[in-house]
This record gives sequence, C-alpha cells and structure tokens, in this order.
Amino acid sequence: MPVTGSCHCGAVAYTLDEEMPTGAMACNCSICQRRGYLLHFTTPEAVIIEAADDAMTDYSFGRGVIRHQFCRTCGCAPVGGGTGPDGKEVIVINLRCTDGIDLDALQIQHYDGAGA
Ligand SMILES: [Zn+2]
Repeated sequence: MPVTGSCHCGAVAYTLDEEMPTGAMACNCSICQRRGYLLHFTTPEAVIIEAADDAMTDYSFGRGVIRHQFCRTCGCAPVGGGTGPDGKEVIVINLRCTDGIDLDALQIQHYDGAGA
C-alpha cells in the first residue's frame, strides 16, 4: 500500500511508493531541532508530490544543498529535497506528515547534524 501524507491544509501532498517506513532520522541541526522533523530519505522515482507551483516556498541556508520547503499557507513541511553526497537528487519525507503512521513505533536514528 502506498504511503501518503500532506501538509495541514492539504495544498501539498505526497505519495510514496514504498512500504510504511519503520525508522526515521532525527537530526539536531539548527533547523531540524526547531522543526522537529522525522526524516525519511528516498529517491525522486519513489515519490509523487502533488502541489500547485506556488504552494510551497523554499528556505535554504548554509551551503544551500538542502531545500527546506514548506507550505506557504499552513507552514507544514511534508517534503523537501536536496543533493546527496554522490551528487544525486534526494527527496526527504517528513514522517510527521504521514497519514496513519505510528510515530512512537519508529526506530529513531539520531544524527548529529549540529556537530557535523
Ligand atoms: Zn498547507
């Protein structure tokens, strides 16, 4: 069954062609800490993102390799993207926006983004 999710107002939605993730990455960098992301990394081929052209806005900082996208209307950040270490496009799903997910059951992998 595909995994679906959306921002709060529904302007931005995603469908992930994978089994429900059982783990997530929690990062302590300056933005992840503030936003409380639970991250799942995947490829552009595995995701369909439905959003009007102007539904999302971007926030980039530092080296600008990650697009911290969020819904212009409700401020939620269901999906983002960036470039991986190998130069390939990476899509980042925020599992906090996933429909029907049991967040407490996720195996959390802590990433020291603040120290990296
Ligand atoms: Zn929204």
